[in-house]
Amino acid sequence: MEAEGLPVTRMGDPRKVSNSFDVVVVGAGVVGASAAFHLAKLGGVKVCVVDRGPVCGGGTAKSCAIVRSHYSIATNTLFTLASLEMFRNFQDYLGDGEVDSGFVNSGYLIVAGEGELAGRLKANLDMQAGVGAETYEIDKTEAKRLHPGLRLDDVALIGYEPKSGYADPYLTTSGFIKAARNLGIELRTDCEAQQVLTAGGRVTGLRTAQGDIEAGQVLLAVGPWTRGLAEGLIPDLPLEVSRHVVLTFRGAAPYEKTTPIVKDLTTANKMYFRPASGGVVLVGTGDHGDPVASPDAMDENTPQDLVLLQGGQLTRRVEGFEDAELTASWIGPYDITPDWNPVLGPVEAVSGLSIAYGFSGHGFKLAPAVGKALAQSMLGEATVVPLEGYRLGRFADDEPLRGAYGIGSIS
Ligand SMILES: Cc1cc2nc3c(=O)[nH]c(=O)nc-3n(C[C@H](O)[C@H](O)[C@H](O)COP(=O)(O)OP(=O)(O)OC[C@H]3O[C@@H](n4cnc5c(N)ncnc54)[C@H](O)[C@@H]3O)c2cc1C
Repeated sequence: MEAEGLPVTRMGDPRKVSNSFDVVVVGAGVVGASAAFHLAKLGGVKVCVVDRGPVCGGGTAKSCAIVRSHYSIATNTLFTLASLEMFRNFQDYLGDGEVDSGFVNSGYLIVAGEGELAGRLKANLDMQAGVGAETYEIDKTEAKRLHPGLRLDDVALIGYEPKSGYADPYLTTSGFIKAARNLGIELRTDCEAQQVLTAGGRVTGLRTAQGDIEAGQVLLAVGPWTRGLAEGLIPDLPLEVSRHVVLTFRGAAPYEKTTPIVKDLTTANKMYFRPASGGVVLVGTGDHGDPVASPDAMDENTPQDLVLLQGGQLTRRVEGFEDAELTASWIGPYDITPDWNPVLGPVEAVSGLSIAYGFSGHGFKLAPAVGKALAQSMLGEATVVPLEGYRLGRFADDEPLRGAYGIGSIS
């Protein structure tokens, strides 16, 4: 027998649970989890999080989870700086001594060769310093001190962020959910959202596979799956989904976990690499990726030409990978908007509906502070970083958030 008043949710029997909330958050990826936590922390409102799968079962699970402030758009840097503080002080910020973001303060190096990209990199370092980021140019001697294996003959400019690093996607997302549950939110996993319910242009709730939920506000935080739920509410949603491959290699010596992350702007696919557990190096691309019709139908095979390309580029940049062994690979979806930046905040045409999608391969580092801003916006408060530039209407208004490096996840 259950003790009376315990917040127990029986997913198989929706009649036993309360179905009336202030806000329903759809999606328990890192964005939905952060938004739910901040709604509970800042507003004390009644929140239900629904996900069609488990917590952190979507794109977040595939993330390389790099947290750097290098951007060319100032508000992206501001979001990262606010997030970085949360990653670094996760337990205190979440008020739970058991949670852990898994953040490793490895530092971040970004390198460019001679030419236009070096000029843009220099301008962006100045812009970031101007908005409070600890980032600056270093010479090759200093870069070799930080990362002795680096080969830098073709490099003209090096930027460095001492405070950046990488976190653990699952620990971060489940940490936000745990802390949000401590504050009273309800979590419904294996609960597919089917339709946002509206009446007279206002949100009234959410239809799910387990029944309808009443709510005056709904936040769609379903990343690459946004099109299906936005259908009928947001015509011509600007969203493209692409497939990205991550590889891990084992070199001659263990790759230490505090070795700085490297972003290599000399490569056509804007390769990046960082340490991963077990002494291997994780390598990804900052390019477009392969377009796919649906995030649920991605080819799971690892392309051998990419293994050769990335292995060759890694060998040219770092000593000790001449005879490297491929140890793992996985694929994940990018939800891409036309300007490679997310859409955040209220949907003007539907009162009570907010969205957060289109993170274009760089949303993990933004998510803690973006979740705070989304919560503040839904609560009618001033936001930690202005959301105006991220509005859906920016595409129709021809006011895109164009980054300095062209397409790719470094905006
Ligand atoms: C390979 C790869 C590497 C990356 N590396 C980095 C990086 O180094 N740094 C960085 O900052 N970013 C990185 N990113 C991007 C970052 O991981 C994403 O932007 C971020 O995780 C997106 O989180 P999300 O919560 O928006 O989406 P998701 O994690 O995809 O969450 C969406 C959730 O919605 C749920 N859902 C979908 N449809 C429904 C429905 N109908 N009903 C209920 N629930 C539903 C899904 O099950 C899922 O749990 C990377 C992404 C990939 C793929």
